[in-house]
Amino acid sequence: MVEVTNIEKSFGRLQVLKGINTQIEKGKIVAVLGPNGSGKTTLIKCILGLVIPDKGKIFVNGRDIKNDFNYRNDIGYLPQIARFPENLNVTELFEMIRDLRKSEGNSEELVSIFGITDFLNKPLRSLSGGTRQKVNVILSLMFNPLLYIFDEPTVGLDPISRVRFKEWVKKEKSLGKTALLVTHLLSEVDELSDELIFLLEGKIYYKGTPGELKESQKENTLEKAIARLLEAGGGQRQELVES
Ligand code: ADP
Repeated sequence: MVEVTNIEKSFGRLQVLKGINTQIEKGKIVAVLGPNGSGKTTLIKCILGLVIPDKGKIFVNGRDIKNDFNYRNDIGYLPQIARFPENLNVTELFEMIRDLRKSEGNSEELVSIFGITDFLNKPLRSLSGGTRQKVNVILSLMFNPLLYIFDEPTVGLDPISRVRFKEWVKKEKSLGKTALLVTHLLSEVDELSDELIFLLEGKIYYKGTPGELKESQKENTLEKAIARLLEAGGGQRQELVES
């Protein structure tokens, strides 16, 4: 579904991505992990065409994304920080995005699932952080895309909404959809992801299933396994890196 070949990206003197190679298979949920500043958001922005890599190629659903913006219609993106036109109300925002995407979407069911019916006529500037995040989540889910890209999707959501979000994502996976999930919440990774990619200093430090990672580090939690993986450092690095 997504193929990333030898992607490099620098901002000024800072090289943020140092040759990323990976494939994300259709129907899989892949978690992207790594410390702050390791390049997670830059990588997903490259896949979205919001950041142009200095080197390398990206294919989404078999199409080279360079000079082709239509592939974005197949993506539901949930940014970490949503910036909305603050004077619009929620219904107007949904309307605007429908117009932009030239697609109806199904906000109705999602509005009911996330319990924001009472906020539909409220201006976005008046919404609490949690309600804004629900709007953000609904926008990423409502157009029935082939590929989801979630950047810290459940931050700020209440427990019921977290559960409902995860249920929706699991249902979509069962329908063959693909998702990339950037998150700090390892319980979410354990629950949702088929595979994880751990970025460190702009490179893929580890790629495998959560189970494989735990097994290889002889730990029973992802948290401990990742800590051990990082402690192992340079010595094991070569065998852990997928090139
Ligand atoms: P992560 O998502 O893993 O926290 P990012 O991809 O956001 O990491 O950032 C990686 C590094 O790139 C950081 O040091 C960040 O400051 C820098 N960076 C990201 N975007 C830009 C930009 N547009 N201009 C300059 N530096 C940037």
